[in-house]
Amino acid sequence: LEDAVRQADRLSSLGALAAGLAHEIKNPLGGIKGAAQLLEMELPDNPELRDYTRVMLKEVQRVNRIVEDLLALASPRKLELSKVNLHKVLGDILLLQKRAVDGRRITFIQQFDPSIPPILADESLLTQLFLNLIKNAVEAVGDGGQVKVKSRILSDYSMMPKGEGRSRLVAIDVCDDGPGIDKEELDHLFTPFYTTKSKGTGLGLAICQKIIAEHRGMIRVDSEPGKGTAFTVMLPLI
Ligand code: ADP
Ligand code: MG
Repeated sequence: LEDAVRQADRLSSLGALAAGLAHEIKNPLGGIKGAAQLLEMELPDNPELRDYTRVMLKEVQRVNRIVEDLLALASPRKLELSKVNLHKVLGDILLLQKRAVDGRRITFIQQFDPSIPPILADESLLTQLFLNLIKNAVEAVGDGGQVKVKSRILSDYSMMPKGEGRSRLVAIDVCDDGPGIDKEELDHLFTPFYTTKSKGTGLGLAICQKIIAEHRGMIRVDSEPGKGTAFTVMLPLI
């Protein structure tokens, strides 16, 4: 028990440290960004130097994203609960993702069960959760690929942990026909900073896991290498 307490202590002070650090980084980063933007304006007819400022701004944006993700993961916060229309959240995300696709043709399919009522949740966190999952799916598929988002009421309670009561669950599947995930990889997916992408932060799924835990939900991954991947989020329907 002592070990567990010590570990929890260490984790929470590590979280506070990370959150503090993230805040400290954001201010000077803003300064660098402002200076790079000024520089860019002052260099209208020097394409070579402008390439440098463009790189600076892009990299600043990247550090910013990492810091934002780290903050989302490390800082303690209170849920702001309200009745959330899940399908509106998912629909809005899909709308934006459709436009974000860089020249690849991707088919988006949404299959929603209209009988699902609004759920009690933190809307901005749910948006973050599903945005992360849908972005991963979009990043996984190639030209001609398919991303499907499906909602359903879960009637199979066998996956519920014992003692969790028998509240009904809503399940949201985010499926893609990308390359899939190897068995050995599956164990690492939710570990902070685990990424196989050159531009990834490896924080997306760790954040998803935290948000789902905060909502007393569960997540599972089904993947078949060569065929595709399905992430299923289960949330209590209250
Ligand atoms: P990031 O997207 O920044 O790499 P994530 O935490 O979102 O970080 O994902 C971690 C890793 O999990 C990814 O780098 C990728 O290897 C794997 N992964 C996540 N979603 C999928 C998916 N839909 N298909 C294949 N691999 C995935
Ligand atoms: Mg990701």
